[in-house]
Amino acid sequence: MLECFFVVVFFHPSQAPRLPKAGETIHGHKFFIGFGGKGANQCIQAARLGVKTAMICKVWKGHEVFSQNFVWQTSDAATGAASITVNDAGENAIVIVAGANMRLGEEELQKALTAIRKAKVLVCQLEISSQTSLRALQMAHDNKVRTIFNPAPAIPDLDFGFYRVSDVFCCNESEAELLTGYSVNNVEDAHQAAQELLRRGCTAVIITLGPQGCVVLKAQDKTSTHVPSTAVKAVDTTGAGDSFIGALAFYLAHHPDMPLEEMARRANQVAAVSVQAVGTQTSFPFKRDLPADLF
Ligand code: AMP
Repeated sequence: MLECFFVVVFFHPSQAPRLPKAGETIHGHKFFIGFGGKGANQCIQAARLGVKTAMICKVWKGHEVFSQNFVWQTSDAATGAASITVNDAGENAIVIVAGANMRLGEEELQKALTAIRKAKVLVCQLEISSQTSLRALQMAHDNKVRTIFNPAPAIPDLDFGFYRVSDVFCCNESEAELLTGYSVNNVEDAHQAAQELLRRGCTAVIITLGPQGCVVLKAQDKTSTHVPSTAVKAVDTTGAGDSFIGALAFYLAHHPDMPLEEMARRANQVAAVSVQAVGTQTSFPFKRDLPADLF
């Protein structure tokens, strides 16, 4: 049972009372280096639920720690990194430099093709070049591998080819807003935006809505379904969307015939656990932490 995910990025969060203005230096009270990238986070969550995963990405050649088959190296660019500042109100400002990941291209995809063909699910994001992401999704689609596309970080004018090769097009409210031009502030708005995204050619759309769970719309249905989340006391919602997508990938791989709404209900529950602990990958639950009826 192999799933493929893209990207690895280190992230460097610092906590400060407020976000600095242009040209300003301020004191922060905490700094740490963590692992991330949406692809890596999603991969970790799926693996913690019990599937065999592989990551396809590129890092700087000095990072010997990566010995996986599809982690290529380059001396031409640094490993992707994100500088994140979080203020006391929990708001953040993020700069991502995708670096080496932008050098992942057709050559590496061809080398990974055998693995992609064998996978049950391929998950792509936009932390590699959009052409490479689209090409990988096309390769999976042509080989009848189910695809999840997470258009994040969102870009305006996304190539419409992405919709046609997405079995599940999964984004959050702000991404849905940028892609459709609709304002997405509540469940009703999400139903409308999901219809618009579906019209563009995907097989199913999921729009995640933070504490409100998500909205699911399948091509064979006329109306979308709101799948509420569990009410919990959230302490840190960073990476909740990645926990959700990792869990969704797990269900698609392990229970391919389960209704998508049920997969989304269970993925909501996994992500709801992640928001109750601090950090991103550190907050993602393992199978042993979760109720048996989720499996
Ligand atoms: P988001 O990326 O904020 O839309 O969140 C992704 C998923 O994480 C949601 O669809 C929920 O399943 C879960 N989630 C996020 N925030 C919360 C919260 N405050 N309480 C419960 N679940 C949450």
